[in-house]
Parts: sequence; structure tokens; C-alpha cells
Amino acid sequence: MKREFMKMVTALSVAATLVVIPSCSKKDVSADVNQASTKTTEKANTTKKASTTKKAKKKTAPKYETIDLLAAGDAMTHMPQVVAAKTRYGYDFSGNFTYVKGAISQADLAMVNLETPVTGGTPQGYPTFNAPKALPRDLHKAGFDVAFTTNNHMMDQGYNGTQSTLKNVRQYLTTVGSRLKKESNDYKNPYIIKKVKGIKVGLVAYTYNTSRKPVTVNGINASRAGNLINTFNEKAFATSDYKKIQNDINGAKKAGAQLVVVYYHWGIEYQRQPNSLQKSIAKKTADLGADLILASHPHVLQPASVIKTKDKRNVPVFYSMGNYISNQRATSRTARYVEQGMMAKMDVTFKDGQLDSMKCQVLPTWVDKYYSGGRNHYSIIDLNANLASNPTLRVSGHRGQAAQALRDIRALMGSSWLKGKTIRRK
Ligand SMILES: [Zn+2]
Repeated sequence: MKREFMKMVTALSVAATLVVIPSCSKKDVSADVNQASTKTTEKANTTKKASTTKKAKKKTAPKYETIDLLAAGDAMTHMPQVVAAKTRYGYDFSGNFTYVKGAISQADLAMVNLETPVTGGTPQGYPTFNAPKALPRDLHKAGFDVAFTTNNHMMDQGYNGTQSTLKNVRQYLTTVGSRLKKESNDYKNPYIIKKVKGIKVGLVAYTYNTSRKPVTVNGINASRAGNLINTFNEKAFATSDYKKIQNDINGAKKAGAQLVVVYYHWGIEYQRQPNSLQKSIAKKTADLGADLILASHPHVLQPASVIKTKDKRNVPVFYSMGNYISNQRATSRTARYVEQGMMAKMDVTFKDGQLDSMKCQVLPTWVDKYYSGGRNHYSIIDLNANLASNPTLRVSGHRGQAAQALRDIRALMGSSWLKGKTIRRK
């Protein structure tokens, strides 16, 4: 979300975008979820100059508009993080985002997977999470606009937890993927339309479930939550679940979505490559009309790719954006990769209102955890920034680990994704 400041970008993205965005007014976060974030400023079309000749006037120059999207993986709160965030007055997670809030805030629409209920009750860590209300507040303060609330931990506090979570999270963020009971009747199409600088973006989100009858999410009976949480079963994807997602994508398009983003919570934990199911679901989803596929859950990064659809469109897919913030550490798992994450940055250009191209870039991140002043600290490190001058890494002494994380992410994702690549719609 753009805030009251000039766009501060790295030298890389300045060179890449050659666009400076003026300051925008802060969004009214209490606005209706379908109407939020209407912005009046638009980027000037610097590439086309209108001719003053009569001849040229007849032929209208195409109108180009760009919106910048950003997405992050799993925002988790293990108990040591909750303890670290405790203050005299409550909880404060804002220090987690010190080095990434600039990138988040400069996006027109920033999304994150909220991998925990937020009931307002006593905080709990793994295996049945419950984060303090300060978490959605501080995600919002860092610049996030949207929380995906469909994942394997959404049932951790039972049916009532799904409902109180939405009430608490919606004070700060638009939620996608689950709903309140009172919305189940008038909410036939479980997608969200966000208006971003006048462009309608359709958001669809689904998590895997673990059986059909009764449906369970992480082994917890979710039948009472029924149609309140968007779930799919990998085995049923070819049949019934395929139709649900098709309906949502079609519904979003009928509602005017000019870009349809589908988020999946899927995959196998700690696998650094997508499996054949993820690949086939991604291909089907792209063929159904999705323009962009975002995903997480395996706790580690998986590569990004571009899918060619039957109708020859190019659809980027980020198979797993990894852990964004968590207490999973290399010491407690076999691999160091659980500490590594990314933000997917997508600058999406529309020509005369139609999707034209998407510049996609992987912004690599690494979670630093260190002990200082009698407590633990957690900080998401922007690995594109100068690591030698990072104050947190100086205190923690973990510059070598951060540099290793950058090498790992570059090796897995590929340099071209870290640099940014322009993907034309066709
Ligand atoms: Zn998960």
C-alpha cells in the first residue's frame, strides 16, 4: 500500500521501472472489503505522446496503466515470537518488518498469508496457533492490505475461532478465503474484488483439506465451518473442486476483474520443488483464466515458473513463497531453508484496461533471530540491501548466514527472477 512518502526504490527497481509515483492518500481501512483502496492518482503515460494533428486525434493513443502488487508467504507466530513481542502494554510485532516495510508500503496492493487464527484470546503457539491482535495490526502498519485466511491452521481454534479471527483481522486487513456465517447466504461467489487505482483485481484463495467426509483442516473437523472456508482436495481437483475454482474465477471476471489472482495453500512441507499435483493444479488454474498464481505452505521456497495456457497466455506461478516470518530455525530442522523467504513483486501493466504485461521480481528475505537486551528479536532482512551496513546483522553477527541465504535463494529461484523479468500476457 502506498503511504505518505515518495517512492523509495532500490537502484535496481528505479532502473527497471523508470517511474516515480507521487504520494497518495492513506487508505481508509474500515472501508467495505469490496470497495477499499480506491485511488485517484494514476501514473502518467510517459511512453505515448498525443499528437496535436487532426489526423492523429482520430486515432486515439492506447492508454497504459500500471499497478504494483506484492505478496509474501506464511506469517506465523510460534510461541517464542509471541514472547519476544510482549511489551508492558500488550504485543508489538512491528520490529519484524523494519527492513521490508518500505517495499510493502510502496506496493499498491500488498498480500500475505496469515497462518494463524487471531481470536483475541490467550495466545498459543504450535500446533494450535492463536496470535495476538497486534499481529494483523502490525502487518497493516507495515503496509499489507490483504490477508489470506485460508490455510491448514485456520481451524486451530475451532469454528468460533474462524469467526472471531475474521472480526479481528478485518479491523486492519481485507480477508480472502474464508467468511462469516452471516455472509454464507449472500456470498455465493467466495472471491474478493479489490479496486486498485481504478483497476479491478479479483482475489481467489483456497487451502488443501485432508479428507472429504467430514472435511478436516489439519486434522480438525471443519464440517461446521462448511462453506465458510475455501478448501480443495487434491484428489478431487479434477472433478468437484475444479468446478468450485472455475466458478470463482468466472464470477470474479463477470464482476469486472481485469486481473484474477489465485492463492493456493498447498504442497509438501520442506520440499524445495513443486510436486506433480501442484504443477497440474497450477496448469488447470491458469487454463481456467487465472492471470497470476501465488502459493505457500511448504515452509521453504520453491521455484517460480511461467505457464503457457491453452489459449497461449503466459501465467506466472510462485509455487511456494516460503516462510515470511516464523521461529522455524536451521537448528531445529534439517535444512537452513526454513529461514529463507521472499516477496513476489508484480508491476502489472494494462493497455486500454486489458492486462498487457507483468514485471515479476523475487525480493529475497531471511529471518534473523538473535538474543539481545534480555530477549529474542526477530527481523525480516531484505537481502537486496547492503548487508554490511544492516544494523540488525551487526548486532546479531549473522551477516554470513544472511549472505548464504541470498546465495541459496538465487540458486533455487534463478538470477532472472531476482533481477525481474517482464512477462507479456501472450
Ligand atoms: Zn500451512
